[in-house]
Amino acid sequence: MASVSVKQLVKRFDQNIAVNHLDLDVRDGEFMVFLGPSGCGKTTTLRCISGLEIPDDGEIRIGDEIVTKKEPAERDIAFVFQSFSLYPHMTVREILAFPLRAVRTPESEITQRVAEAAKTLHIEKLLDRKPGKLSGGEMQRVAIGRAIVRRPKVFLMDEPLSALDAKLRTEMRAEIKRLQTDLGQTTIYVTHDQLEAMSMGDKIAIMYGGLLQQIGTPTEVYDYPKNLFVAGFIGSPSMNFLPCRRDANGLVVTGIEGASEVAIALSPDAGDRFRNAPQGTELVLGVRPEDVLLAHESKAGFQPAEVYVVEPLGSEKIINLRIAGHIVKARTPPTFAARAGETLFMQIDQTRSHLFDARSGDSQTRHGLGGN
Ligand code: ATP
Repeated sequence: MASVSVKQLVKRFDQNIAVNHLDLDVRDGEFMVFLGPSGCGKTTTLRCISGLEIPDDGEIRIGDEIVTKKEPAERDIAFVFQSFSLYPHMTVREILAFPLRAVRTPESEITQRVAEAAKTLHIEKLLDRKPGKLSGGEMQRVAIGRAIVRRPKVFLMDEPLSALDAKLRTEMRAEIKRLQTDLGQTTIYVTHDQLEAMSMGDKIAIMYGGLLQQIGTPTEVYDYPKNLFVAGFIGSPSMNFLPCRRDANGLVVTGIEGASEVAIALSPDAGDRFRNAPQGTELVLGVRPEDVLLAHESKAGFQPAEVYVVEPLGSEKIINLRIAGHIVKARTPPTFAARAGETLFMQIDQTRSHLFDARSGDSQTRHGLGGN
């Protein structure tokens, strides 16, 4: 096991900067997820760490060793890819033994390590089968087995679950997390799926346009997003964004499509959260669907809002409301009664909401201790 440290990593493809001065540290034994939309540079970063790409600038360390220009085979890492190509003519036992034979491990040790890996991954019964007789999930387990059997310093996984169906992906998500916890293996895992990132990672590094946007635990990036990109990328349904400005009393949400603006008085509960947001600049109020509180009757501090659409999802309902012409999604228990066209009353939980600068996208929210 080892830590991984990336300093000022730059990788260009012709004029295109795929990774732009990236700094990050993965602690020994940590499960780090690289998250971002397609093309943000996460795979290129992983490939630079693996040695499959050589950076244009910057430094990569695995443990105490600088490996920036070393061959992949000299880095003591193991890869699990999205498309797992298993040698079709070999049995699972032979596939698992292959990386050990390649480094001339004694046969008795190979037998023992293959048995251990098979037990860890619950594939003992598959050892004498060939890949053609395995399901997608079983194949992915074997691909992971082939990586863990070597006991490398670092595990690198690039969207390893994306070829599986939704149910199997959810199962394997939990299994990989459990396996990583049991092995205590430093792991870097690439995905564009924020749910996968939130549920698996000790830390998430969120990338966009080759730039690191934020790095933190799942709770940190969810509760304290540093900018509009992170706020909108993490969470489903996404955070609601309302253009607004700050005035002496509170916030004023800009009206669109002929709707009037809506004033929101600052709640004493929110403390200093919004107080340092400048007056006279364009701001964006960010509110997660679970932080939109609804009532059927008028109450102090609640605004009337018309129900636009109701989405019953079984375990919860998503109520779409109109406020100042904008659509706002609210998450409610499944039993909450609402129908399109009726007027409900909504309040934004200011203790959990966010303000961003509309131009830079940077958070203007002042958090208490533990925030950013
Ligand atoms: P995806 O999830 O689609 O794989 P990603 O976040 O992993 O996306 P990268 O594959 O790292 O993104 O790509 C980052 C940028 O670098 C993209 O603009 C991509 O087109 C470009 N790029 C990646 N590999 C190459 C290459 N071999 N040659 C030219 N451009 C490349």
